[in-house]
Amino acid sequence: MIHVEGLTKYYDDFCAVDHIDLDIKGGEIVGLLGPNGAGKTTTLRMLTGYFQPSMGDIRVKEFSIHQDSLAIKRLIGYLPESAPLYKGMIVYDYLNHVASIRGLENGAKQRRLAELADMCGLREIMHKTIETLSKGLKQRVGLAHAMMSDPEILVLDEPTSGLDPNQIVEIREIIRRIGEHKTVILSTHILSEAEATCDRIIIINRGKIVADGSTQDLTAQQGREKQIQIGLLSASAEAVTAQIGAVPGIMRVEPMASQEDNLLRVNVICDAQTDARADLYAAIKATDWILVEMSRETQTLETIFRELTREN
Ligand code: ATP
Repeated sequence: MIHVEGLTKYYDDFCAVDHIDLDIKGGEIVGLLGPNGAGKTTTLRMLTGYFQPSMGDIRVKEFSIHQDSLAIKRLIGYLPESAPLYKGMIVYDYLNHVASIRGLENGAKQRRLAELADMCGLREIMHKTIETLSKGLKQRVGLAHAMMSDPEILVLDEPTSGLDPNQIVEIREIIRRIGEHKTVILSTHILSEAEATCDRIIIINRGKIVADGSTQDLTAQQGREKQIQIGLLSASAEAVTAQIGAVPGIMRVEPMASQEDNLLRVNVICDAQTDARADLYAAIKATDWILVEMSRETQTLETIFRELTREN
């Protein structure tokens, strides 16, 4: 659906987006994740045709951003970070106005407004003035605006920024529902946001893509290892290192200092693909050591994000 090649944006001599290559399939919900200043908004503005790239190409279906930016704009609904709404207008009048600008008339217009009211949960607020709405409700009006022409692709820049936890969940649910039938690209610097809403996460740092995949893919790609901590009574570090080190999938055994007499704590490093807990237990059971602790730490998206964007 979307093919991006060598996408680059310079602001004077500062490179904000640096040779990004990307393919997005129809129906994906993609999260562009990165710290402040990573280049997310700049990338989205180029994708939506609001900025011309300094270099590179964006193709949406059969259209290129250089020759057919209007056709691309028609395929994409865009909700910028601060949705520009006419604050003094009634929600219904505002959406009616947007529908007219988009060329909808009479029956088609009324049908679309009713669909959007249901889709974005606006039924109760259609007759309220926009400026009296909470930020979460304003965001829903912005979403309805972006969805007016029933675009195939929806691009959302930080859609939950500044919302309270209940509003975040509500907007996420609407995005998920929309994503059942559309391609959605959203930017966020909130990890839980990307994890909860997106099928695929692209981590961007200093204008470059540094990771791309599902949460599981990313943890598998980046998480080269998992750690299991165990605590044993009546065991020596040497014997434990030898016995546990021989278990399949175990890469290293690191004895740790313990405050408690007679308790030996060890950190067992396993490869990311192996769940070694059952084999570890069997290896310990074959001895006269007493197992008093076992806990597993996996690499989370948060640790991956911090590793990949640490210099920021
Ligand atoms: P945030 O999460 O803070 O919105 P972002 O990932 O969306 O950040 P961008 O807004 O794309 O990042 O900015 C990328 C870099 O480009 C930043 O260093 C920013 O200061 C710079 N930048 C953005 N817009 C302009 C502009 N119009 N002129 C000059 N520099 C800009």
